[in-house]
Amino acid sequence: MPTPTAGRIAKLRERLDERGLGALLVSQPSNRRYLSGFTGSAGYLLISGSETLIATDFRYFEQAAAQAPDFRLQPIAGPSFEPWLPGLLGGLGGKKVGFEAAHLPYATFQQMSAVARALPEGERPRLVATTDVVEGLRAIKEPAEIDAIQAAVDLADAAFARFIERVEPDWTEKQAAWEIEKHMREHGGEAAAFETIVAAGPWSAMPHAYPRDEPLGEGRPIVIDMGVRLDGYCSDLTRTIVLGRPDGEFRRIYDIVLGAQLTAIELIRAGMTGEQAHLLAERFIAEANYGENFGHGLGHGVGLEVHEKPRLGRSSEDVLADGMVTSVEPGIYLSGWGGVRIEDLAVVEKGRLRILSRAPKFEQAKV
Ligand code: ZN
Ligand code: ZN
Repeated sequence: MPTPTAGRIAKLRERLDERGLGALLVSQPSNRRYLSGFTGSAGYLLISGSETLIATDFRYFEQAAAQAPDFRLQPIAGPSFEPWLPGLLGGLGGKKVGFEAAHLPYATFQQMSAVARALPEGERPRLVATTDVVEGLRAIKEPAEIDAIQAAVDLADAAFARFIERVEPDWTEKQAAWEIEKHMREHGGEAAAFETIVAAGPWSAMPHAYPRDEPLGEGRPIVIDMGVRLDGYCSDLTRTIVLGRPDGEFRRIYDIVLGAQLTAIELIRAGMTGEQAHLLAERFIAEANYGENFGHGLGHGVGLEVHEKPRLGRSSEDVLADGMVTSVEPGIYLSGWGGVRIEDLAVVEKGRLRILSRAPKFEQAKV
């Protein structure tokens, strides 16, 4: 029976052919996992037209053999590349071997280059910088990946629902964040997908605020941005709530953000660029005269990582396509008052967005 990674490797080989690459050296952890199944923290994959190799150290021999059955194990001992890399590169003489420019440390690249230069001329490959080779494949999710993301979304939704039932105005932001994370961990989550954001009042005017020892309080916006990693896949959810009675400003700002989000969700289509998708929400907010107060992109892909392709934002040329999973998260941030952001995950299906999140919007929680 073919492994889940076999199809991905076949697709990768097509991409390597298109780019004139004889092989790709993969060092980015999520790319390594995506192509091989190996979840360890260290190692390289080398994938050529005929070979699939995983180079890792003693800590991971057994794990790599079990998780990456499609790959031949190349043992690594110590930090030096000399004992093992020449053997791998030697078979690729005269070919271009891509490395992941955004992820390979420069010092490591220099060491690898020195190893390649030391090879006899006929065996010497050319190391060439690549970007987004595997990331481009990862952007289009397989059905099993969408199921995994949905499970992570469901878990975050459940944690949010539980939080809303229990939260009190005297909880601190840190306590609130911990209650959310605890629920996700106790119900199967591997970890929070990122540091949970709970920001109340003026603090919530910072889109990426960190939780403080400050009480949530009443009558002011509380932005909660949370996600969980489950079976390797992430979720990402933002809700803005008020404990007690919201002020008139909140109602007004909330309605604009929600309107921008629903408009974008309704109108986004496969074939649009990330910028075009973003502008649907940006224009909506600008027409309400808050264009200056929505300074970040509308969304981002989510999968093995919480931020991946596609990017929905100014100048993004990523083209939306069926199978992509993206967040849709407009916000308005007013210094001195606070912020409102609403974020859902959606999958592009039959050319349109289908929302994965089910957490209710605007819960006016009890006091
Ligand atoms: Zn988020
Ligand atoms: Zn997000």
